[in-house]
Amino acid sequence: MSQVTAFLTDSTLCIGCKACEVACKEWNQVEADGYDWSGFSYDNTGHLGHSTWRHVSFVEHAPEPGVGGNDADLASWGFESDVCKHCENAGCLEACPTGALTRTEFGGVYLQSDVCNGCSYCVVSCPFGVVQKNVKDGRAFKCTFCYDRQKEGLQPACAKTCPTESIKFGPIEEMELIAQERIKELNSRGMDDVHYYNPTHTSVGGTHAAFIVRGDPKQYNLPPNPEVPTQYLKDGWTGAAIGAGILLAGSIFAFLGTKR
Ligand code: SF4
Ligand code: SF4
Repeated sequence: MSQVTAFLTDSTLCIGCKACEVACKEWNQVEADGYDWSGFSYDNTGHLGHSTWRHVSFVEHAPEPGVGGNDADLASWGFESDVCKHCENAGCLEACPTGALTRTEFGGVYLQSDVCNGCSYCVVSCPFGVVQKNVKDGRAFKCTFCYDRQKEGLQPACAKTCPTESIKFGPIEEMELIAQERIKELNSRGMDDVHYYNPTHTSVGGTHAAFIVRGDPKQYNLPPNPEVPTQYLKDGWTGAAIGAGILLAGSIFAFLGTKR
C-alpha cells in the first residue's frame, strides 16, 4: 500500500452529532462559528468556510419510499460530513500565485497560511466552494488533511473522533475497496438509492475525500460535474495567440501595401 491517503465519508452511518466539526476545531485551533441559525435547518454552521473545515449538513427528506429512514410515511433526516476534497487536479493549488498551496506526500492539498497573501484566487477556483478568506485575518483557510497528525502516523482528528465510523481514513486503495464492499452491502439490504461520489470522470480527476450518500448527491452540495476553472486557460491562450498572429499578419500586409 502507498502512503497516499484518503477520507471515505459514509453518510449512511452519520448521526449528525457534529463531533467531527468540534474535534477539527479543537485540534486545529479554529475559531468558533457562534450561535447564528440559518432559519432553514438545525445546522448552525451552514457550509464549509475559513472556520468550518468539516461541516455536517442536515438534509430533510420528505416522505418517500426508499429514501432516508425506513418508514415511507415519515419525513427523515439525512446527514453528511463534508470536507475539502483534496482534489487530484486542485483548482485552488493551480490558481495560487504565492505557492501557499502545496501537495503533500500523502496526496492532500495543504494551505500554508504564513505564505498566503489573501488574494483569494483560490477561493474562486475551488469547484466545491471549500476555501474561504477570513476577512478579519486577511488570509484564506481550509482543511489541512491534518498533515501534522499524518506526519506522526495518526489519523485526522475528525476520523479519530467519529463515534459511528462514518468517517474512515487510510490508504486510498483501501478506502476504494471498503466503499465498493459497503455499497454492495447497502444494495443487498434494499437501498437502491446509494451513490458513491468521487468525480474521477471530470477535470477534477478524482479526490482524496470520497462519499457514500443516499439520494441525489446534489442535496449534499456534491456537484455532478465539478470543473477546475483553469482547464479553460490553455484554450484561452491558444485563441489569444491565434488572434494576435492574424493581427500581426494583417499589419505586415498593410505595411507592405503602403510601401508600393
Ligand atoms: S476541494 Fe477546493 S479547496 Fe479542496 S483541494 Fe479541491 S479545489 Fe482545493
Ligand atoms: S462525528 Fe461522525 S456521526 Fe458525528 S456528525 Fe461527524 S461524521 Fe456524523
